[in-house]
Amino acid sequence: MTEPLYSVIVPIYNEEANLPELYSRLSAVLDSLDGTAELVFVNDGSRDRSLVLIRDLHQQDARVCYLSFARNFGHQIAVTAGLNFAQGRAVIIMDADLQDPPELIPQMVQQWQAGYQVVYAQRTKRQKESWAKRLLAYGFYRTLKRLADVDIPTDTGDFCLMDRQVVMVLNSMPERNRYIRGLRAWIGFRQTAIPFKRDPRFAGDVKYTFRKSLGLGIDGLVSFSKVPLRISTYIGLVSAAIALLMAVLVLYWRFFEPNSRLTGFATITVAIFFLGAVQLISIGILGEYIGRIYEEVKGRPLYTLAELGGFQNITPKVANRYTSIDNPDQG
Ligand code: UDP
Ligand code: MG
Repeated sequence: MTEPLYSVIVPIYNEEANLPELYSRLSAVLDSLDGTAELVFVNDGSRDRSLVLIRDLHQQDARVCYLSFARNFGHQIAVTAGLNFAQGRAVIIMDADLQDPPELIPQMVQQWQAGYQVVYAQRTKRQKESWAKRLLAYGFYRTLKRLADVDIPTDTGDFCLMDRQVVMVLNSMPERNRYIRGLRAWIGFRQTAIPFKRDPRFAGDVKYTFRKSLGLGIDGLVSFSKVPLRISTYIGLVSAAIALLMAVLVLYWRFFEPNSRLTGFATITVAIFFLGAVQLISIGILGEYIGRIYEEVKGRPLYTLAELGGFQNITPKVANRYTSIDNPDQG
């Protein structure tokens, strides 16, 4: 088989309840496309029967390829692995829970054929998600837009189509903090949005806990903005100005109004706590950046593969760059 025209990458973490429906809707869409397609499932260390289901699909349908991680590495890393192995001229990334409707793919393909190298889906509406999550997401994307060095479009997730050219650039980017929607914006090329209504999850629980979402948000901010580092400088400058003013005031009172003593145990305590807090927060922000430098410097592989199957042109040697297994299934 020659290289497929389209690849669809789907990260999977405990999605056994979604896989059958996902597969049937996706394969109907892929059948309707004008070229061959491969479906790349990336099993991100699922603890349910997802991997078994994926292997079955691979047996039934030659278009299905899969990678399976040795443990849970997280959504962004799973997508990254999919991008490393996908071979299509156009590569689509989507979630497994059918929040990203597969039926949008033909529209994306149309835009790609019209000459856009990146076609991303932009949410106009989120359904059945808690108001807290919606509010946080709303606030976050707007803050990110203001602070980030690159123009990351608001309300976009990872659901997109990318041309081979863009995927190759992404694959060549060595960083381990992979905030893909940010990297995608950073790369440039001709990009366009398709508005869509984000459906509720088809089945199963949300895999992004609050902690994971927060982590992803901080990753996005820190990887694409140096403004937080500057915030402590600004607060420091303002505090210094206030301190100077206070010093002048204290001296004035000391010499010209000796009777109006500047009393205040409370004032001092509040000042100490406030400055202490500012310093700790600044150190924390510094730590976020230094921790990331540390992660990058260690240079560990982004993921470990336990199993893969269905890829046509991946030699064991290439696979070995990513994994410790000797004999990947070439079936
Ligand atoms: N996912 C993953 N690894 C994780 C968490 C999530 O591969 O550690 C996958 C999950 O299976 C789904 C996608 O990432 O296909 C999005 O997850 P989810 O729907 O839970 O998050 P949402 O973005 O909808 O809040
Ligand atoms: Mg979801």
